[in-house]
Amino acid sequence: MLNRALRIGLPNIYVTLTIDVGASPWDRGDERFSRDGAHFSGGGSSQTGGIRLGGRHGVKIEAALFDAGAGPRLVVADLAAPGPHQIRVKLAAVGICHTDVKASLACGPVPHPVVLGHEGAGHVDAVGADVTNLQLGDPVVLTFAACGACPACDAGEPAYCHHSVVLNFGCEGPTMIHVDGAPVHSGFFGQSSFATYAIVDAKSAVRVRVDAPLSLMAPLGCGVQTGAGAVLNVLKPHPGATLAVFGAGSVGLSAIMAAKLTPACRIVAVDRNEARLGTARALGATHLLVAGDNLEERLQVLLGGGVDIGLDTTGVPEVIYAGMKALNPRGTLGYVTSPWDGRDLAMPGRHMLWGRKIVGIVQGSSRPQCFIPALVDLVMSGAFDLRQIITEYPFEKIAEAFADMKSGKTIKPVLRFDP
Ligand SMILES: [Zn+2]
Ligand SMILES: [Zn+2]
Repeated sequence: MLNRALRIGLPNIYVTLTIDVGASPWDRGDERFSRDGAHFSGGGSSQTGGIRLGGRHGVKIEAALFDAGAGPRLVVADLAAPGPHQIRVKLAAVGICHTDVKASLACGPVPHPVVLGHEGAGHVDAVGADVTNLQLGDPVVLTFAACGACPACDAGEPAYCHHSVVLNFGCEGPTMIHVDGAPVHSGFFGQSSFATYAIVDAKSAVRVRVDAPLSLMAPLGCGVQTGAGAVLNVLKPHPGATLAVFGAGSVGLSAIMAAKLTPACRIVAVDRNEARLGTARALGATHLLVAGDNLEERLQVLLGGGVDIGLDTTGVPEVIYAGMKALNPRGTLGYVTSPWDGRDLAMPGRHMLWGRKIVGIVQGSSRPQCFIPALVDLVMSGAFDLRQIITEYPFEKIAEAFADMKSGKTIKPVLRFDP
């Protein structure tokens, strides 16, 4: 026996029928009709070409598909219906993050071909079985995946989920997306939101206030919460602290906006790009430094001393090393990304002995269900002026947006889906 709920969609009218029809996991209450008049077709779970197959198809979508090392290719695809504990989201916007760029290069754990995208925001379009926290039409910001059951998740620290790498980068779950009938990898960061619709675990969707413009809110789910959370949740500057942020991209600038809300007195922005330093100044930096050689010495000259708190957003080993060297005794350096080229970090051991610390910070140590609504309020209040870092593109221009991000022309591209 199975419980299959059919939601028959007419404009603004939904009728839910629950009928008992079957037995497999994919047959348990996971099929809905959406307002698009979506179709579904039968199928169980199996394996093809190394990709685990998901269940029935739900809706036709447009998606950006990445083959190994290649740029995005727009395709029409089939997206499965949401299973238990999952929702389907109709995307309104999705940010592009450097992690998308990294994953597109096929140099990490992400398999290809794959639909990337992990800063989605949109509206709940269909609800799977056993979802209790979200309803059709809810505006949501999507964020990272976590298992919900490991020691870190149990401790309320989902960003450090023991299964995070597999859940966010492995794309190992049953695929939700088929292109021309062939399965492609999905579930990147639990989302694969470079698409008109995405299936996500309900834990990874955060309901937000209805007046929040979703194209502004999309980056909250990764880049903004990474930078802001590092400062507000972990580093927590003390009154009068001197804080340096290395890298003035979207993560670093979010950290600067957050630092401005703290009792830190001096906020130093460090970047090679002088235009970005100007943006950093506008968003709250009190001191600017062009990155380059002898960084720690030049910081000492600029400040007349060291820094109490540093935050590296570059992942460049030499910059992280300089950040450690710039710390005052008992100072702390946070870092949010590891070197792209696989190099490890060196540590000035004698220097660090004097109470100095270095700490890795994932997703700003955020508890997204609490932190993202707080960030939304900060954006809506004007305290976080994301308009200064976001450039919007229509979804069809995703390749241009990627290129502009890689060249540094755009700080934070956000792709918009027309209604
Ligand atoms: Zn990201
Ligand atoms: Zn976990």
